Amino acid sequence: MPDASIDLNDIERALHAGEFCFYFQPKVSFVTGQIIGGEALLRWIKPDGSIVEPGHFLPQAEKSGFITNITAVMLPELIEDIEKIKAIKTDAQIAYNISALDLYSPYLVKMLRSFIGSRRINPGNIQIEITETAVVDNSDRFKTALLDLVALGIEIAMDDFGTGYSSLDLLSRLPISAVKLDQGVVRRMTEDVKNTHIVRSSLYMARELSIKTVAEGVESKGTYTYLMSAGCNEVQGYWISPPLPLNDFIQLCIHQPQWPRSTFGLLYNAWVNHISYRRKVLDAALTMSMTSPEEWKSLPKMDLAHSPARCRLGQWYMGEVSETEGSNRKYKQLEEPHRLMHAAGASLIKAIRSESGARDIARATRIFLEYSDVVDAEVSRIVERDLEKTFDELDVEKAKNVPVMSDLLGENDVD
Ligand code: C2E
Ligand code: CA
Ligand code: CA
Repeated sequence: MPDASIDLNDIERALHAGEFCFYFQPKVSFVTGQIIGGEALLRWIKPDGSIVEPGHFLPQAEKSGFITNITAVMLPELIEDIEKIKAIKTDAQIAYNISALDLYSPYLVKMLRSFIGSRRINPGNIQIEITETAVVDNSDRFKTALLDLVALGIEIAMDDFGTGYSSLDLLSRLPISAVKLDQGVVRRMTEDVKNTHIVRSSLYMARELSIKTVAEGVESKGTYTYLMSAGCNEVQGYWISPPLPLNDFIQLCIHQPQWPRSTFGLLYNAWVNHISYRRKVLDAALTMSMTSPEEWKSLPKMDLAHSPARCRLGQWYMGEVSETEGSNRKYKQLEEPHRLMHAAGASLIKAIRSESGARDIARATRIFLEYSDVVDAEVSRIVERDLEKTFDELDVEKAKNVPVMSDLLGENDVD
């Protein structure tokens, strides 16, 4: 709620008196269980030491347009903070919230270009968060500015995902590489299973679009472990840590605390991606066989990703999980059947395109399904082994008397 007793003059004076600073809330990777960066959150620290949160003064600044002055003054401060964080954690990624108005003028891009050009920060050290509600009016202008940021190598995240009206459409139109699930939706998962479905479907959709997912507002270990298992990538929330003053944040990074981690969520997702690819090829085969070549134009675009490197499963065993495991040897046996499956998928679609006879198409389908089954069995084994390993580790931790997952398996109904 904006605070009616705060007017623009107060905000302007405080900004120029240096009363604004950033707190940093850690962001943790579910795969490593370690801090990978954080979100910069504006704080107004009054001379008497009291802290005013952005909800009390940003709405006024936003409404009047003064927000762009705040960004212009605070962005250089943020870069100084990031340099200090970077000194102890080179690859830290710090998310910065900007307002729609910031993108309507060219200075944000200019400033960032100069900070990156002078090598004070790497493009990967900063991530820009936008809210979908801010974008709806003027997405073309927005898009150009966002593309400029992307050209600099900066990632764009969509904040509060799941609250606006046109978020799905925006995902397809804007160069978004991460979505932050809305806190409310995340928290309400414990109240209504519909919220759980919404979160799970959002995770699924983001994956199909090769977009990273970040959950925020995670306040309990139960929610943390559930999202980890559901295959979300990163997490933020009071259960991990509240936003911290810069030095406390740096101290925390130095200590490298360890939160629960598991590769299971991502592994299982890669498996689902594989099943989904098989389904998409069969959908294409069926719809194309049942329509004439003149009608193919009216079929939706179907991303069949016949190249193994573009397939989500391929990307997974070549990167993501295997890298963090330190070796991708155990994924090697997947490579050959996976390559053959994609080749068979491509031949099947080609057979249909060239209007081959029904027998040839049936044969190509059979071959595709056979290779796909081999991949399926192999991925299923990897997932199983990963799960076994996780439970073994839990046993070891329990033996050490470290309470792990205890509240997840408590009275909460697990349905
Ligand atoms: P946001 O971007 O959605 O930021 C997350 C807010 O949730 C932060 O509130 C954070 O302190 C709070 N939060 C984090 N974890 C939890 C949790 O587990 N439970 C609960 N209940 N809350 C949690 P904060 O710092 O008050 O910021 C409010 C909003 O102000 C932000 O929402 C963002 O939209 C805006 N904001 C903050 N800093 C800036 C800034 O530098 N520039 C601009 N333009 N907007 C900013
Ligand atoms: Ca944010
Ligand atoms: Ca948010």
